[in-house]
Amino acid sequence: MPIYQSRSPIIHNYWIKAYGINGAYGHFPVQPDNVADAIRGLRALGLAGCNITLPHKLAAMPLMDTLTPMAKRMGAINCIVVGEDGHLTGHNNDGFGYIQSLRDEDPNWRADKGPIVVLGAGGAARAVVIALIEAGATSVRLLNRTRTTAERLAEGLAPIVEVHEWSQRQEALRGAALLVNATSQGMYGQEPLDIQLDTLPADAWVSDLIYVPLETPLLAAAQARGHRAVNGLGMLINQAIPAFEAWFGVRPHVTPELKQQILATF
Ligand code: NAP
Repeated sequence: MPIYQSRSPIIHNYWIKAYGINGAYGHFPVQPDNVADAIRGLRALGLAGCNITLPHKLAAMPLMDTLTPMAKRMGAINCIVVGEDGHLTGHNNDGFGYIQSLRDEDPNWRADKGPIVVLGAGGAARAVVIALIEAGATSVRLLNRTRTTAERLAEGLAPIVEVHEWSQRQEALRGAALLVNATSQGMYGQEPLDIQLDTLPADAWVSDLIYVPLETPLLAAAQARGHRAVNGLGMLINQAIPAFEAWFGVRPHVTPELKQQILATF
């Protein structure tokens, strides 16, 4: 990801100011050959930690002293916390961010309300599927254009994750309580996701991990049919909460002003 497009500095610098912390959050573009040096440098510079984004989410893992159980399950990290003794812990907060984005919509949202259809099988889909299992999902239908990638993702996860054919995505929506788009389709500059919602029950939620644009064609279609439509902004903002808390010891709040500052960048 081109890190200058990241909204993380806006989020963390907003909280740093709001909580009166003497610090700053910045961008550091790091070439793949320099990841190990950059991470060793965290200790040397006395930093509290950092986020890690693509393409370093996997390469950084063996450089950690400890991985949280969630980071191990996800097989990738998005956050490093430097302990007082220089101990490096790798975290993955993407799944937390996703579930919290649904609970922000409705605190009573439950993962076990009915089958959940997840489209896509990349890194984001992996985070979402694992988070849904942890949140108590009882049935996940996983579909990806490249079926073998979905099968690899499902391997070793709970048996509640069933891989379906991409060509059957219309049928897979029958009886579902939640549809998740974890593909890149619908993102700014990409084709819309090729799916009709006619077979989706009227009370199902539709969530798109994409946040550029905030309203993808999928979410617009969902809203037109009266579904609860959730974009990817909540996942992005909420994954920052546990990171900030681990670095600075304060559990931060997402305020309307913070959301406004982020929306102003689109
Ligand atoms: P990724 O690893 O590159 O995965 C991309 C997925 O999209 C794959 O499953 C791929 O299927 C599928 N795909 C690509 N082109 C397609 C097409 N023409 N038709 C159908 N499927 C297609 O990406 P990722 O990191 O998982 O990210 C996926 C999405 O989540 C992106 O839009 C990203 O912006 C979003 N995201 C949001 C957040 C957030 O905080 N809100 C965090 C992470 C990611 P194949 O396997 O067949 O190629």
